[in-house]
Amino acid sequence: MEKLANPQKTIEMIQKNHFNFQKRYGQNFLIDAHVLEKIIAAAGITKKDFVLEIGPGIGTMTQYLAEAAREVTAVEIDRNLIPILEETLAEYGNVTVIHQDILKVDIAALVKEKNGGQPIKVVGNLPYYITTPIVMGLLESAVPVESITVMVQKEVALRMQAGPGTRDYGALSLAVQYYAEPYLAANVPPNCFIPRPGVGSAVIRLTRRQEPAVTVRDEKLMFSLIRASFGQRRKTLANGLKNSPELHFSKEQIAAALAGIGLAGNVRGETLTLSQFAALSDALGG
Ligand code: SAM
Repeated sequence: MEKLANPQKTIEMIQKNHFNFQKRYGQNFLIDAHVLEKIIAAAGITKKDFVLEIGPGIGTMTQYLAEAAREVTAVEIDRNLIPILEETLAEYGNVTVIHQDILKVDIAALVKEKNGGQPIKVVGNLPYYITTPIVMGLLESAVPVESITVMVQKEVALRMQAGPGTRDYGALSLAVQYYAEPYLAANVPPNCFIPRPGVGSAVIRLTRRQEPAVTVRDEKLMFSLIRASFGQRRKTLANGLKNSPELHFSKEQIAAALAGIGLAGNVRGETLTLSQFAALSDALGG
């Protein structure tokens, strides 16, 4: 079958099947072969790989993944896309489509069954309404994942890879960078999709680290501190921590911890590195 990655073929498929786009599922289908090639290259897919694709749509990216990988499992929530996928992927013997909500899939069991428990590669043009739960769910869980290469809202990609002191730096940057090394592979304009999204997009690859980027005694406390310090961006870190309903440290405890790790009492959270948040957490956590 001719590849789907062009506007004519995509429109033909959609019309033939009387498919209606569902806004609530974040459906924006890729129609640009060049972008698809970039995604496959950024993900570094080889014939040894088992790939989990999130949200195959009509199968445009799945066709490329099937050609590059050993095996692909694609998870799609919209039942109306399942018969279309059967047709567009009929030629590929190495693809399995699962009709499910990705957030409900037991990915650890899938990795065990399909890849002998060895790390997999995750790829997808993500539904933007659930980017963070998908990405953070994969990173925080013990599921063996080597890398996650995904199309996300451009602004989210910038936040994932931002460093201290920049406008885009925040809790998401620190959470992602604790577990993974981000690499921004491409910016993708709205005209590469049908229908066109209202925002710019970008492809980001997150390569999971063997060990988290920093050592910290109480991971949960560190992330509470991070959330509290970015929850009130305009305030000093000390005030952000003091006002957080999640935390119960006194003004004196916070001042002592900051001084103990060599930070000024009026420092802002957005200037701290991940190592400094870890040190602060250890200082406060005792
Ligand atoms: N991969 C296709 C492409 O690039 O043309 C479609 C990408 S589209 C941005 C997102 C896809 O994810 C849609 O097909 C949508 O139905 C599906 N989707 C949305 N929410 C989902 C969920 N919770 N679980 C699995 N798939 C989901």
